[in-house]
Amino acid sequence: MSELQFRTPKGTHDVLPEDHQYMTYIKKAVRHRARQAGYKRIDTPMFENKAIFERGIGQHTDIVEKELFLVTGKREEDASDAQFALRPELTAGICRSYIEHGMQQLPQPVELYAIGQCFRHDRPQKGRYRQFHQFDFEVIGLKDPSLDAQLIFALVKIFQDLRIMDRLTLQINNIGSAENRKTYVDALKDFFIGKERHLSEQDRSRLQTNPLRLLDSKEEDTQILLKSAPMFEQFLTDESKEYHATLLEYLDELGITYVQNPRLVRGLDYYTQTVFEFWDQSSGAQNAVGGGGRYDGLIELLGGKPTPGVGVACGMERIIWHMKEAGVKVPNKDQVDVFVAQLGPEAKKQCLTLVSHLREMGVHTIGALGEASLKSQMRHADKFEARYTLLLGKMEVKEGTIILRDMKAGKQKQMKYEQAIPEVIKLLGQENLDTYVLKDQMGETDED
Ligand code: AMP
Repeated sequence: MSELQFRTPKGTHDVLPEDHQYMTYIKKAVRHRARQAGYKRIDTPMFENKAIFERGIGQHTDIVEKELFLVTGKREEDASDAQFALRPELTAGICRSYIEHGMQQLPQPVELYAIGQCFRHDRPQKGRYRQFHQFDFEVIGLKDPSLDAQLIFALVKIFQDLRIMDRLTLQINNIGSAENRKTYVDALKDFFIGKERHLSEQDRSRLQTNPLRLLDSKEEDTQILLKSAPMFEQFLTDESKEYHATLLEYLDELGITYVQNPRLVRGLDYYTQTVFEFWDQSSGAQNAVGGGGRYDGLIELLGGKPTPGVGVACGMERIIWHMKEAGVKVPNKDQVDVFVAQLGPEAKKQCLTLVSHLREMGVHTIGALGEASLKSQMRHADKFEARYTLLLGKMEVKEGTIILRDMKAGKQKQMKYEQAIPEVIKLLGQENLDTYVLKDQMGETDED
């Protein structure tokens, strides 16, 4: 076999029809829960001014330092002018949009949700891609633990709908205000003075640029040292502690189980107060399906008025992986109901109308309108796993009849041509027809 000339770029994948069934199912659950809770859908560009990510997410985070895809829009010779980046996540763009469109004039909080692709120039591995899908919820304009609790509750509901909640744990922490964080970071730096030689090169550089990242270091030596390092909790103000305690009370009230995790910091700079992640029960942080938190300083960082916010983002590829592992079946909407086979020029002409009428009625129909023999058309019908075949040969055209074959049962009967459509509809059941009516207001389609 010759070597394939072109393949998907490293870290990317085609979403093939089988996986689209899962994508569609997840999107449905997301849209349904979002609408129930008053969220409105938003889409922002896939690329933004790269300063938005640098400022918002933080210059010294992995996402910005190592994983940002730069876009120039120019030819190679001008590449040094890069100023755009493909979005590595959705929050920063949504906050930019909130400011740009004066959404602070709207009743607060503004609740938005988005579904789309994100890009990180990460080292590809299982569950870690360079292009992946996220869905994202943001609640902007008010600060109250009840909003954090409701946001988490919406996520729990979605994971329950998708039947994977029992494979996940909700990890939660409070990382205080930006000032709390600063005092803590200073204390952490002090603690490591004189201990640098025990750190790996990467952790030593983190100590300089983003010491909080040491908390989730994979290095054993760092982890051992951290056991005697100051804990974040000691630096939280009473206000932050109270905020967190109230949030936990609300989660209890909603019947949500969680694990308090004092080491959870999340990699992004913009978080304040609440942070949380949904972890895979067996592999923990490694393959988290979602994470989020409060970002009360982000909008101001991006040039808006001080405005609190809380949000969450989930990775759809990882969710699909969980659904498959859990054996969750999703409806296959691509099944073929009827295969129309024909022979002879008259039959072929008549079948064109038949196929289009069946489709209009909501019957998934494919028609073999080529010149193949009836036998090979029947083999095709089998391969497409059609439930029924309608057969129109020269004889049938002459007699005004048609043959209906039940492919599974292997039985067939002849009937009057006019009876074909009503008979098929009866067999499939009116309620199973795929009719799509645009109501007076435009609705979203499954494929969105
Ligand atoms: P983060 O804000 O980095 O925690 O990302 C939120 C969610 O997006 C994660 O919990 C993952 O489910 C998903 N995610 C993040 N990065 C990737 C990636 N490189 N490939 C696939 N999914 C990802």
